[in-house]
Amino acid sequence: MYDDFKIGWCYICNGGWVSIMRTPDYHYFCICENCRAQWDTPEDFFEKGGRPVEDYPTQVRVTREELDRIGWSKYLYRP
Ligand SMILES: [Zn+2]
Repeated sequence: MYDDFKIGWCYICNGGWVSIMRTPDYHYFCICENCRAQWDTPEDFFEKGGRPVEDYPTQVRVTREELDRIGWSKYLYRP
């Protein structure tokens, strides 16, 4: 269910994709499908600087329109 909006391969577990999701109240974040590590922003993930957070127990799927609106479409993984 995470494949549509993945941004990269998880460097924490090296075993799953990290994808963009959101909370029910529209806070967007990134999460690994495998180890469930979370990052507040795609920048945090790519810079590998931000410590993964685990603040968002409830994940909701996002739409392409939402990503376009918040400007995160540019982070989507392109093979
Ligand atoms: Zn992971």
